[in-house]
Amino acid sequence: MRKALVCGAGGFIGGHLVKRLKSEGFWVRGVDLKFHEHAETCADDFLIGDLRDQDFCRDVVDGYFDEVYQLAADMGGAGYIFTGDHDADVMHNSATINLNMLDVCMKRNIKNVFYSSSACIYPAYNQEDPDNPNCAEASAYPAAPDSEYGWEKLFSERLYLAYNRNYGMRNRVARYHNIFGPEGTWDGGKEKSPAAICRKVARAMDGDEIEIWGDGKQTRSFLYIDECLEGTLRIARSPDFEGPVNIGSEEMVSINQLVDIVADIAGKRVGKKHVPGPLGVRGRNSDNRLVKEKLGWAPSQPLRKGLEVTYRWIEQRVRKNSPA
Ligand code: NAD
Repeated sequence: MRKALVCGAGGFIGGHLVKRLKSEGFWVRGVDLKFHEHAETCADDFLIGDLRDQDFCRDVVDGYFDEVYQLAADMGGAGYIFTGDHDADVMHNSATINLNMLDVCMKRNIKNVFYSSSACIYPAYNQEDPDNPNCAEASAYPAAPDSEYGWEKLFSERLYLAYNRNYGMRNRVARYHNIFGPEGTWDGGKEKSPAAICRKVARAMDGDEIEIWGDGKQTRSFLYIDECLEGTLRIARSPDFEGPVNIGSEEMVSINQLVDIVADIAGKRVGKKHVPGPLGVRGRNSDNRLVKEKLGWAPSQPLRKGLEVTYRWIEQRVRKNSPA
C-alpha cells in the first residue's frame, strides 16, 4: 500500500488533503501541533507534536513514505501576517520546520517532498496596480515580498530546490494563491478574507453594514480547496517539472466585489463600511500560463460556486454559536 505523510494535517488544506489521499487508497500519517478543529481526521495515524523539534521530525519520518506533503507553517490572513506583530515567530517557526523536515527526509532517502509556498513571495512593486498585477513565476526576482511571511516562503522554496540539485531529491514547489473552502479558520484573527466576509455577512441582518479593511478596491483571486488539491497532486507527482508554479485562479475580483457576491449568495442587502486595517498589496492575481503549459491544468469552477459551499458552511457555524 502506498504511504503518504501530511505535515500540517490539523490545518485547513492538510485536513482536506488527508481525505483526498485516503480516497485514493493511501495509508496516511498526519502530523500537527493540534487536531483539526472542524473535522474528524480520517488519517490512519495522527501524531501530535512540534515539527520545530528535530527529534520529533525523526520520529515522524520513521520509515519510507512514497509521498510527503509539507504544509505546516505559522500562518494566517492579513490580520496575522501584515501587522508585523508576528514577524519573528513566522520566520523562525516556519523556516525551522522546513529545515528539519527536508533534512530528515533526505537522510531517510525519501526523494519527493511537496512544499506549499505562496503568492506572497511576489514583489510588491509588481502589485501596485489593482487592474494589472504581475504574478508570473519568473517575476519573483529581484525579490521584494511585502511581508516576512513571503520572505520565509521564498527562502524555503530555494531550500527545497537546492536539495534537488545537491542531493538528487525530486521536491516539488507550488505557490498557492488564497485558498478557501469549508473546514477552514473562519474566526479568531487568523482567517482570510473570504472566510471573514462570509462570517460578517452571515452575522449581518438584511440592510446592515459590514466593516471592510481599506477602500475594498484591492484585487485578489481565490481558489476553491478541491481545485487546489487537484493542482497540488499534479505538481507533486509531476515526473520532471519541479516548479515553483502558481496554483491559483485567474478570476480576479476586488474585495468589494467579493462582498457583493457573498451578500447575493446570502440573499441579503449588505452595506460596506470601509475602515483602516492591514491590507497587503494593491492587486494580485494568479498567472496560469506556466501551470497550463507544464501540467495541462487550470481551475475549472467559477469563484461563486466555491463561495456558495463555503458560505453555507460558515453560516451554519455562526448559527450554532449564536442560536436565535
Ligand atoms: P493552516 O494554518 O490551516 O495549517 C497549517 C498547519 O500547520 C496548522 O494546523 C498548524 O497547527 C500547523 N503547524 C504550525 N506550526 C507547526 C509546528 N511547529 N509543528 C507542527 N505543525 C505545525 O494553513 P493552511 O491554509 O492549511 O495552509 C497550508 C500551507 O499552505 C501553509 O504552508 C501555508 O503557508 C500555505 N499557503 C496557504 C494559503 C491559503 O490561502 N490557505 C496560501 C498560500 C500558501
